Amino acid sequence: MPEEIQLKMLHSVAGLQHAELMRPGYAIEYDVIEPWQLTATMETKIVKNLFTAGQMNGTSGYEEAAGQGIMRALMPPCVPRTSLASRYAAPTPTLG
Ligand SMILES: Cc1cc2nc3c(=O)[nH]c(=O)nc-3n(C[C@H](O)[C@H](O)[C@H](O)COP(=O)(O)OP(=O)(O)OC[C@H]3O[C@@H](n4cnc5c(N)ncnc54)[C@H](O)[C@@H]3O)c2cc1C
Repeated sequence: MPEEIQLKMLHSVAGLQHAELMRPGYAIEYDVIEPWQLTATMETKIVKNLFTAGQMNGTSGYEEAAGQGIMRALMPPCVPRTSLASRYAAPTPTLG
């Protein structure tokens, strides 16, 4: 969020109208593989037999990153896409 917007938000809080911002908040942005670019087995649609999990799939926490890795590890390495895709009904890979 731009610094001026952060400052505006801060100043909108009663009692903080004249507060000074010492350092603005920031977010780390990075490229990820979008969920729709993967099959339900976490295989990339573009590169066959390439499976991804964790941060590169856009997760932002330890548990989900590890959970995706575990889920993928528990699946047989080479299974027909259709059989697994039907077992995991979600249209895109999620942990939810
Ligand atoms: C400052 C900070 C604070 C965080 N705090 C929290 C928190 O409080 N709670 C929370 O749930 N999450 C937190 N996270 C997020 C969490 O760290 C990540 O979501 C999680 O570590 C992602 O795990 P990962 O295994 O996908 O990726 P990573 O942990 O990044 O692991 C990727 C691994 O691949 C290796 N690698 C990269 N390229 C190659 C290559 N070409 N060949 C071989 N190895 C390679 C890297 O060295 C690394 O070891 C935080 C992240 C940061 C940066």
